[in-house]
Amino acid sequence: MIKLKIEKEDFLHLLFPPRCPFCDEVLFHSLFAKGELICGECKHKLEYVREPACSRCGKPLEDERQEYCYDCGRKTFEYTQGKALWVYKGIVRDSLYRFKYHNRQEYAEYYSSELIREYGEWINKCNIQAVVPIPLSKKRLRQRGFNQAALVARKIGKKMNLPVFCDVLLRIKDTKAQKELNDEERKNNLKRAFKTRTNKVQLDHILLIDDIYTTGSTMNEAAKELKRAGVEKIYCLSVSIGRGY
Ligand SMILES: [Zn+2]
Ligand SMILES: [Zn+2]
Repeated sequence: MIKLKIEKEDFLHLLFPPRCPFCDEVLFHSLFAKGELICGECKHKLEYVREPACSRCGKPLEDERQEYCYDCGRKTFEYTQGKALWVYKGIVRDSLYRFKYHNRQEYAEYYSSELIREYGEWINKCNIQAVVPIPLSKKRLRQRGFNQAALVARKIGKKMNLPVFCDVLLRIKDTKAQKELNDEERKNNLKRAFKTRTNKVQLDHILLIDDIYTTGSTMNEAAKELKRAGVEKIYCLSVSIGRGY
């Protein structure tokens, strides 16, 4: 009798074949061999955040003489610096939507490997001691079943050998979707939305992870709370970001 030795990972691979995170087509080249987790067509369509970008939040800018985007030029942020991978539009926006609302948790693999390829060195330079995802409220977590930011954070932590703390920061207020609100409403919407589990967080440098960075209010409120608990510097990393001006 011939025994076929199938690794568990390969078996799962056949049951849930890898799909391109951007067009959702099955990646046949990755079925048996460890190939790229994106199709050739989408690879060329991705818009990566490149210089010139805002030195504070990382939004791509039009004018290279500008140091900060409009928002960062007039607001002070609690975090030290932020970086993001892709511009939030087109196939990136659709991909993040499926990731979050259609349970495409496997996309976190490609997101995280690209985040590390682009920003691994930056993460090392920032002397990060722990990775912390932007949390969801208990209610949201129950509805969705998983926290998309935590999926990305765990992969980054594993690949970069950094501890990931998913429960150091809590979301105590169930806020409305930020995209439905204007600037002023966003600020009030998030006021005291976060809380740390302990009064004193024994970490100096933390990397916050989120999927979408828009105005920065979410990252800012989370950073404010971590600083209140004694964290010295907070850095932010997002899968996608809007354009600055
Ligand atoms: Zn594709
Ligand atoms: Zn900015």
